[in-house]
Amino acid sequence: MRAAERGVALGDAEITVGNLLFHQPGRHLDCGAVVELLRCGGVDAAPAAVSRALATLARHGLVQEIEVEPGRYFYDIDLRPHVHVYDPVRGTLEDATTGVVVRSGAPGSPAGVATTY
Ligand SMILES: [Zn+2]
Repeated sequence: MRAAERGVALGDAEITVGNLLFHQPGRHLDCGAVVELLRCGGVDAAPAAVSRALATLARHGLVQEIEVEPGRYFYDIDLRPHVHVYDPVRGTLEDATTGVVVRSGAPGSPAGVATTY
């Protein structure tokens, strides 16, 4: 992980959550998805602890935190600036792959789709 390169000392929760994120390349996960994936792997983690670990990883610049709605965050291991598309109906966040960029809440936004930066 990039933590050692940056001289960041992480706790067990941050290491566990960080390892999970870095084994999901290309995916954008929110706290609930991380909790579920940890449970599938046999780790019973409290959502509050996972949320704190994700916020710590973001604060240290190890993952990108994307707020899609007030208080709702997704996490991305790709730290490069890029455009995201949030689908509130499916509850998913993806990298924009088309040439069409629509600002969140902009007139003409496709129904159910918002774009974050
Ligand atoms: Zn992304």
